[in-house]
Parts: sequence; structure tokens; C-alpha cells
Amino acid sequence: MRLRAGVVTDCGLVRPANEDSFFLRRGLYAVCDGMGGARAGEVASEMACLGLLALDPATAGGRELRTAVTNVNHAIISRSLSDERLLGMGTTMTAALIREGTLFLAHVGDSRAYLFRDGRLEQLTDDHSWVGELVRRGELTPAQAAAHPQRSIITRALGTDLELEPDLREVELREGDRLLLCTDGLSGLVAESDLAEILSRPESPQTVAELLVKAALEAGGDDNVTAIVVDVLPEGDIDDELGDRILVGPADREGGMHWARRIKSTLVREKLGLKPGAKSKPEMPEGGEPGESAENLPVAGPSPALDSEQEVAEDQASVKTRTRYAARRRWLFVAVGVAVLLVAVVGFAIFNSTVYYVGEHEGKVALYRGLPATVAGIELSAAIELGSVSYETLDPYLRSRVDAHELVSKQEGQRFLRMLETLDDLE
Ligand code: MG
Repeated sequence: MRLRAGVVTDCGLVRPANEDSFFLRRGLYAVCDGMGGARAGEVASEMACLGLLALDPATAGGRELRTAVTNVNHAIISRSLSDERLLGMGTTMTAALIREGTLFLAHVGDSRAYLFRDGRLEQLTDDHSWVGELVRRGELTPAQAAAHPQRSIITRALGTDLELEPDLREVELREGDRLLLCTDGLSGLVAESDLAEILSRPESPQTVAELLVKAALEAGGDDNVTAIVVDVLPEGDIDDELGDRILVGPADREGGMHWARRIKSTLVREKLGLKPGAKSKPEMPEGGEPGESAENLPVAGPSPALDSEQEVAEDQASVKTRTRYAARRRWLFVAVGVAVLLVAVVGFAIFNSTVYYVGEHEGKVALYRGLPATVAGIELSAAIELGSVSYETLDPYLRSRVDAHELVSKQEGQRFLRMLETLDDLE
């Protein structure tokens, strides 16, 4: 039995950063959806993924997987208690260990594992969410849960309870099975019938993961979205693309679509500053600021082989897609910014044209329209009516009234000018 895997993660179209993380290694796969203020969620989800480095998928089983998950839970709690910026951070985790045809699942939270077998999609995990509990008790239908305003309330997460136990499950796999691990940014937005339709396609796991994430973006992309697809293939059918590599991501938390090939080039080679072929010992990161823990990402094994022409073409296509979504987002921000600016400028111009004051202009007392101020070298007001009275001849009290630049209505200003003229005539 051989395994072939693909991964895609995307920030989505609404969230400012991607707090999902993923882990891929031959025989061990995980998605994590972090939560917590000020981007602590990405620290939690990445810590959870990195914690899986303690496992050797060639020898581990369900017991070791459970131990790794509970250890990660303790590590996240202790880290969040040692740094007030990380206090309360947590993460979901859906981890799949595949050894000798057996799938060991460990699961906490509302990310999901699905098995696509013989054209049918089966959800392998129960959502540890408030609406998930209501569905299991028969009080909500899955469709009602999917649209429920409280659907994001999670009842079990790593980092929140020292006694936490993950759900554990074993499934015997068969050739032809396709496994999907995903965060709720996919399962919450794309109907199961659509997931099944995309999973039924004959394309590679990488392409299928890409199609799944595209579907989530097309459905609004209102959350971070991550999908790992793993195919169970006959022995010797297709070589495992992963080789001995370990992928942890995303590499770019603000950006759009990323998947394995991109990550192995940017994250593993450049971000870590490792020479091709260099080996580093997997280890848990220590310390570091939120968002910096990626610096500690491990990588093992030989350098990636050169991409085939097909892979290069796929990469180019995917870069185009990513660029399209990024460009769409950029244009949206620009359009909203321009609209806000336009409303502000027009609003101010209207306001500015309705206020008046009396001041001195070319030695005379005059009526001005606009505010008595200058912004960036631009006068906000202009004299619209020049009176006949000389500013210099005004008595000190009247001059102080003129110098006060008090805002008045047009009629009040004109009355004041006439009054000065009348006083002038009396003298
Ligand atoms: Mg999510």
C-alpha cells in the first residue's frame, strides 16, 4: 500500500491572517485550526502540528498518537500561561496516522476527517462544537447546524483543558480509499455532496485539494481553509511525492493558496535557510513571538527532486489562481478605500460651503465662505464679499470681533458688514 498526499491552505477572502496549520509526513497528516486573540491562534495551531514530530509514523500506533496529542495539549497550555499575549489560545487538531493499512485518527475540535470510498463520503469525526452536540442529540439537522449563528463555538480544543482526551478511532483502509482532512473553512462552506463530487474526480490529491479550497473560496471564503487529501494506492503504483520530507505550514500567513510544492521551495528551503539536502533534527520550538515559531520549522530528508514539466505547469496555473484571488482582494480594499475617501471629501466640501466668517481681506473687512484654516497649503475659505470698511480704522472691540473668525451664517455675516458700514457712516 502506497500513499500519495496533497495539501492546500488559504487565508480565505475575509480573515486578515491564516491561523490554520497543517502537517504532512509520509504516513502522518494533520490539520489544525487555531483560535485566540492577536494571532495567538496561529501559534497554537503551529505548536500542535510541530508536536507531531515526536511521532515516528513507521513505528507508532494509536497509543503513541494519543500521547503526542495530550503532550501537545500540555505544551500549549504551559506556553499560553507563560505569555499573557497567548493566554487562552487553543486549536483544533485532526491527525491521521496510517501504518500498514490501518488509519489511526486522533481528533479534537471541529476540523474533520472524511473517508471517500466506493463513491461514498463518510465523516469519520464528530464535531466537538456546540451545534455538533445538538446534532448528535437530534435537536438540530446537519443543515441547520451548518447555518447556525453559533456554529463556531467549540466545546473541546487543545490548550483549554489539562485533562483533555482526544477522540480516537481506527479504520482499516483499502486500496482506492481517499482520505480528506479539513478545517471548518471548507466543511462549513461547501456542502458534503459537493465535497463528494470533487473527491470523486480522478485528479491527483494535490489537484483535488486545490479544487476543494477553490470551492470554499467561491462559497465566500469567510474563514481560513485547509485541506489535505491522501490517496491509498496499490503497492508500487505511484511513488510517494513526499519522500522523506516533512511539510509544516502555511509558509505565508497573509497570503492566498499554498500547497506542498510551493511550501517545500519557500518554507523549507528559503525560510529555513537550509541548503538542499541538509538535515536538521526535528525538535519542538521554544520561546519566540507569535508568528515567529515558523523559524523553528523542521525539515528532514533529501532535497526535493526537480519538478516535472507537468508539475511546473500546475504550479504556474496555481500561481495564476492565487494571484487572481489576491488581486480581487486588493481591488476590493482599494475600491472600499476610495469610496470612503470620496464620501469624506464630498461630505467635507458640502459642510465647508455652508459656513461663513468675517475677516480681513486686502485691508477691508470681508465675508468669507468656508473654514478659516489652511490644510496642506490649501486655503479652505475664500472672500466672497468685500465690505467698504477699512480694517485699520475699526475700534479695538470691533477689530477683535473680526479677528475672532467666528463661524456664522451668510445672513449674519452680511448683517455684520452692513452694521460696520452704518457705524462708519455715523462717524
Ligand atoms: Mg476555522
